[in-house]
Amino acid sequence: MVYDVIIVGAGPAGIFTACELVKERATLKILILEKGRDIKHRKCPKHTNGGTCINCKPCSITTGWAGAGAYSDGKLSLSHEVGGNLPDYIGVEQTMEMISYTDEIYLKFGADSKIHGATETPAMREIRRKSIEANLKLVPCPVRHLGTEKTQKLYHAIFDHLINSGVEVLFNSPVEEFIINQNQVEGVKCTKESYYAGKVVVAVGREGSNWLMHQCDVQHIPTETGIVDIGVRLECRNEIMQDINDNFYEAKLVHYTRFFDDKVRTFCSNPGGFVSSEYYDGNLAVVNGHSYKDLKSDNTNFALLVSQKFTEPFNAPIEYGHHIARLANMLTRNKILVQRFGDLVRGRRTTPERLYRNNIIPTLKDAVPGDLSLVLPHRILLDIIEMIRALDKVSPGLASDETLLYGVEVKFYSNIIKVDKTFQSPAVKDLYFGGDGAGLTRGLMQASVNGILIAKEILKNCIC
Ligand SMILES: Cc1cc2nc3c(=O)[nH]c(=O)nc-3n(C[C@H](O)[C@H](O)[C@H](O)COP(=O)(O)OP(=O)(O)OC[C@H]3O[C@@H](n4cnc5c(N)ncnc54)[C@H](O)[C@@H]3O)c2cc1C
Repeated sequence: MVYDVIIVGAGPAGIFTACELVKERATLKILILEKGRDIKHRKCPKHTNGGTCINCKPCSITTGWAGAGAYSDGKLSLSHEVGGNLPDYIGVEQTMEMISYTDEIYLKFGADSKIHGATETPAMREIRRKSIEANLKLVPCPVRHLGTEKTQKLYHAIFDHLINSGVEVLFNSPVEEFIINQNQVEGVKCTKESYYAGKVVVAVGREGSNWLMHQCDVQHIPTETGIVDIGVRLECRNEIMQDINDNFYEAKLVHYTRFFDDKVRTFCSNPGGFVSSEYYDGNLAVVNGHSYKDLKSDNTNFALLVSQKFTEPFNAPIEYGHHIARLANMLTRNKILVQRFGDLVRGRRTTPERLYRNNIIPTLKDAVPGDLSLVLPHRILLDIIEMIRALDKVSPGLASDETLLYGVEVKFYSNIIKVDKTFQSPAVKDLYFGGDGAGLTRGLMQASVNGILIAKEILKNCIC
């Protein structure tokens, strides 16, 4: 039960910590503790029972080997401006270097060699011109797209590599507490066993962020209130987004609204993709989206997220996001709510009849037609409507009546653990924090980079 390094959470941050450690120091005794299942046993029943979620615990979409990455669309964002705050810790230049370094590892394990949006064409410049006219900022972001099936294969190959390199992995093993003695980490407690190590890496993702914040409170590890992103997932026919899809695959567009000056951004676009629901602790359904490499739908979906930063005395943005998601769940009996844009702006609910009048066929089959204005705060609703009207100037047709809005999409990465540039809290020695759960990253690439950076710090200080 004594290890050199314990990694809590087998998402991209935890996995890449282990990869770098075994690459540089094959003799290290490493244990990964993961709350969910092995990748082979991560089966979402929705995929075999007609799209209906049966609320598995733990959820196979968000927990298990490769964390939230396993069922992700596998879009690797190759820009430092996207997917996290690592430049705040290590600077832009080192972030870019580390993205290239990590990208090489993804390629080695089978990532597609094609990069979308790497060179700017006249068509891309025209899209930028239209964006400027519509008060939208187009953030350049080359993307390597794996698709969900390939993403799973890739992380499976990394699993085999780590097991063959002697890393121990225990599934169905949620960590309950850190063991800390006089500001020095000594290990972690699971339900039945305690495990000891000189260094502990905590990379528990959004799924583990509530638990982590509670641990930080109990152990007096300082955190700061971050932002919470709340919004909807928009779905339209591929024809509407064709220009952007063909030229960028995913265009990151940002708008500051006229009235509230709130930041609204597009996020996680899936051309030919599928809208999906994911479940967080306590049965909370929130919407997401993904796309497969080969299986394509007629629709494109992407999130529209409004960033909210709260000020004193409020310091519970995760709870705030949960409340809004719970409100939507209350109206739909724990399903995702869907509304046509035309119904939203006319102040009426969408009914099954209105839903099926359209050209577009919803890809999330168990979504419940309803009224988002009964769920989203006035401010967020107006921000989203303004954003859709701005986007309509770049992709005409987006603000048409039939555009579907699924609610709610909430990103629970809000509280940030105060760490230094070695990713340790000043409050506890040898306890490292990384990835989405610590509020440092928001995507596969930066979470993976964060894991590698932590490993490099461990190796600098490791006498083992
Ligand atoms: C449907 C979906 C699609 C996405 N698509 C993309 C995309 O295309 N591109 C992109 O860049 N990003 C995407 N993301 C986001 C991306 O998956 C995450 O940013 C990334 O996985 C974060 O990595 P992580 O290691 O920090 O956390 P996670 O991947 O969330 O992994 C954390 C792991 O920790 C485990 N855990 C939690 N608590 C405990 C505990 N107490 N004890 C033990 N284990 C614990 C969890 O079970 C989980 O396996 C998507 C996310 C989802 C949900």
